[in-house]
Amino acid sequence: MRFSKSKKLYSRAARAMAGGVSSPVRAFKAVGGDPLFIRRGSGQWIWDADGNRLLDYVCSWGALILGHANPCVVAEAVKAVKSGSSFGAPNVPELMLAEKICERIRSIEKVRFVNSGTEATMSALRLSRAYTKRRKIIKFEGCYHGHADAFLAGAGSGLATLGIPASRGVLQSTTNDTVTVPYNDARSLESAFKSNGGEVAAVIIEPVVGNMGVVPPNRGFLNEVHGLCKENGALLIFDEVITGFRVGVGGAQKLYGIKPDITCLGKIIGGGFPVGAYGARKEIMGLVSPEGPVYQAGTLSGNPVAMAAGLAVLSRLNAATYRKLERVSAMLEQGLTDAAGSAGVQVRVNRVGSMLSMFFTGNGVTNFSEAKAADQSSFRRFFWGMINCGVYLPPSGLESWFVSSAHSEDDVRKTIEAAADAFKGL
Ligand SMILES: *Cc1c(COP(=O)(O)O)cnc(C)c1O
Repeated sequence: MRFSKSKKLYSRAARAMAGGVSSPVRAFKAVGGDPLFIRRGSGQWIWDADGNRLLDYVCSWGALILGHANPCVVAEAVKAVKSGSSFGAPNVPELMLAEKICERIRSIEKVRFVNSGTEATMSALRLSRAYTKRRKIIKFEGCYHGHADAFLAGAGSGLATLGIPASRGVLQSTTNDTVTVPYNDARSLESAFKSNGGEVAAVIIEPVVGNMGVVPPNRGFLNEVHGLCKENGALLIFDEVITGFRVGVGGAQKLYGIKPDITCLGKIIGGGFPVGAYGARKEIMGLVSPEGPVYQAGTLSGNPVAMAAGLAVLSRLNAATYRKLERVSAMLEQGLTDAAGSAGVQVRVNRVGSMLSMFFTGNGVTNFSEAKAADQSSFRRFFWGMINCGVYLPPSGLESWFVSSAHSEDDVRKTIEAAADAFKGL
């Protein structure tokens, strides 16, 4: 395949845009080479600037559960935009999406819309601090909660240490209040609670991690996290920006039978438009302005086009959609595992529903250090092998692949054939 047009566009972009991209992972730094410029998408397919057609497993980082340019979603969005794209005032699609979310996500009685997942988690944190009148938060190593300062903390040297800033420009005084512990390790969480006493406002977690590659919670882990929060008077924040409406109609909280105090949503609920949301029971949401003293606002929040698109998506998700996603994704998992086996390549495929990733390692991957220990140079070569066979994977071994309802069993067969080739070329 030729990528000369993308290459030219990227060198132009590098002059006009910071790092040539609007979000770092898009620059392909983890796989080397130049990113593709995407011109068009339809269903499970994308076309790049050079006219190459690729089978897409990024799907806008999970936002597009129905695939690209789903006709119903497009029709609703076009109808909305023709009626005026923003009012900065209450509108009906926003109300309908709010009602739908409250109906489907069991822990949410009231919701507030924002414009990104980052805004959702940042606002949930503020709300948890206001509610508990405490300052610290506990997060898990390798979980990503957007780019707000408080979440950009790396783990210190010991377990359950205070965070160190993971980005220049983030103050030590900010991450001093962020405690980071390993995922799937309830004992570390327990000791973090012990050493931070009654200061912890909230524990925030990806109930299924998508941001170190896919890492599912060990059996009972989320229950232990929930129990420790209760014992210690801290709120439990589920960051379901990926898992909300991805792993099932009721999100990860339904799948694992846990009722978090606050839930953050994004990605799927915007149908490919910029959206986020956070929600909780009435008592907690009552603290949010204008009802309560926690200020949080947004000029474009509840944007009618995004709301209409999100509503169109949620209206089309039902038990049959998730059965199909499960069938196709399970087939992909099995096919990748078998193809690697035949080629004598050691891999681990982690999967929950239609989120999946493949680690080049012979060991299980249950936390961030195990994820990082997988062989990234093999992933890099595999990634380019797949692109050359017309399959577009996330450009990092530490990201989730996403299957959409547009992906068919036939697409999966082609993917597995491509993978068999790519494994041989490693
Ligand atoms: C994508 C993501 C975010 C951030 O959402 P943005 O819309 O990119 O700001 C937060 N949490 C999780 C789990 C995510 O995957």
